[in-house]
Amino acid sequence: MRHLLGIDELDADQIGEILERADYYSRALRDGKWDHNHLADKIIFHLFFEHSTRTLTSFEVAAKRLGARVVNWNPQTSSLSKGENFTDTIDTLCAMHPDGIVMRHADYGAPNFVAARSTCPVINGGDSWREHPTQALLDAMTMKEHFGKIEGLNVTIVGDIAHSRVAGSNMQLLCKMGAHVRVVAPPVLMPEELPFKEIEAHENLADGIKGADVVMTLRLQKERMDSALISSDAAYYNEFGLTLEILDKHAKGAMVMDPGPLVRGVQMEDSLAEDKSRSLILKQVANGIPTRMAVLDLVLGG
Ligand code: ASP
Repeated sequence: MRHLLGIDELDADQIGEILERADYYSRALRDGKWDHNHLADKIIFHLFFEHSTRTLTSFEVAAKRLGARVVNWNPQTSSLSKGENFTDTIDTLCAMHPDGIVMRHADYGAPNFVAARSTCPVINGGDSWREHPTQALLDAMTMKEHFGKIEGLNVTIVGDIAHSRVAGSNMQLLCKMGAHVRVVAPPVLMPEELPFKEIEAHENLADGIKGADVVMTLRLQKERMDSALISSDAAYYNEFGLTLEILDKHAKGAMVMDPGPLVRGVQMEDSLAEDKSRSLILKQVANGIPTRMAVLDLVLGG
């Protein structure tokens, strides 16, 4: 793999290969046995133009577990604030010859733009509402770990489908791997088009989660809305907030997932998020490390 820019560029075999490698690193981390110096000669630039807790930290931990050195570049303290434009900033950083770039940016396709200019591999840590490929991969790893498969699973994604790059990448990955995908959102948060015709769209939470194995909730991506599309968080929660009661009534036994950040009182009730027998949220976070080790290995490991 030269770059990892999106799930749109991967077929089922390539996704399967990444998941197998992630599984290898998951077991290796448990046993304490892997090549700690596998990427010891590599310097990786982290170019995060948007805030992050999980993705940035998890990429750094994954890189360090493989022996790579990481430069956490900060846009706020960079020459962007002196008027340098994005392209010149990228060309400047690339002239220092990093071995890899992991980046996040608010603009659609920004990692593809950087990949076309850089001489090193680029990994997308999330761009606009388009793609967040490593999130979808770690979600898939988490489902595979819990259910033993992805093919045939009934997965419902609830929330801001229109503005979420997690939805963007997950809908594609899950369909390519043979899961049955439904999305639930109010009409203002539903995209005009869905990436696969097999995906079912619902406006009603109960209908959309009926019989699901996994219900994945998503935050309202307010930073990408031109105006307030939802009257209030409370109004959204009333109609789309996931509770144990609703889950047990319509999807008994379903597991809940959320890429985070979990905004308390909006996506799901607190006790459900914290219930380890129903929530895979912290497993998703933990699986971010072996998944990103796998991606770094496949892209930079040669
Ligand atoms: N952390 C994820 C992302 O960067 C999900 C979110 O922010 O809602 O897209």
